[in-house]
Amino acid sequence: MGGRDTDMVLLDENGIRCDGRKVDEPRRIMIKAGVLKNANGSAYIEFGDNKILAGVYGPRDVHPKHMSNADTGILRCRYHMVPFSVAERKNPAPSRREIEISKVIREALEPAVMLEKFPRTAVDVYMEILQADGGTRCAALDAAAVALADAGIPMRDMVSACAAGKVADTIILDVNNEEDQAGQADMPIAYMPNLNQITLLQLDGVMSLEEYNKCIEVGIQGCKTVYALQKKALAEKYFPEEQT
Ligand code: ADP
Repeated sequence: MGGRDTDMVLLDENGIRCDGRKVDEPRRIMIKAGVLKNANGSAYIEFGDNKILAGVYGPRDVHPKHMSNADTGILRCRYHMVPFSVAERKNPAPSRREIEISKVIREALEPAVMLEKFPRTAVDVYMEILQADGGTRCAALDAAAVALADAGIPMRDMVSACAAGKVADTIILDVNNEEDQAGQADMPIAYMPNLNQITLLQLDGVMSLEEYNKCIEVGIQGCKTVYALQKKALAEKYFPEEQT
């Protein structure tokens, strides 16, 4: 997050945000499953102006072998922003930020994936951020979870992610880039909707306990909205005749 410039009009007197949304309104979300022929599973997501591709490969042999685990499979995740994903060219080499996001995404997906069924193997998840506009870790997670399901990897639950945050002392759903830079707080959440468990919770900013609880509540509502769209994307691929 950038400077907390609360003077910027992030919320007008009618409760409308800088991009025209209401406080509890997510951006437009479009998810498509099975978009890459050479991956075992894949998904494409547009989350507002974020555009992200996820590809899943495996379960497959681990090289070098000593990295494998005889008792369980391992999950490896790579979150990567392509050079043209942001206004200034981004160096394609993995940044500290991308390494950290790859780690938190892996930890958010691991509770859902039944890796114990595939000892000695690895499941690789690649997420390519083609265009970034705030909330990419959540959108990448959403695409990755659909790609895992598309790959036929057994899962305990879907993982659905959405951020909530605070601008102009108001809790909002789904923080865009402008709100992230100039707002007061950003809280990405990943959530397993059937198990009712949070698998990722980060908070950048300061809020009261009351705001914190409200932010989690609003964020989980956003995750549930995403979940419905993840299921729809999978149903459109696997049961096209049942779709209207
Ligand atoms: P998230 O994308 O999960 O919200 P951050 O809060 O770290 O993660 O980043 C917020 C936004 O800042 C990103 O979505 C992207 O639009 C922008 N951003 C991140 N890294 C860069 C970069 N290297 N150059 C320009 N913009 C960036």
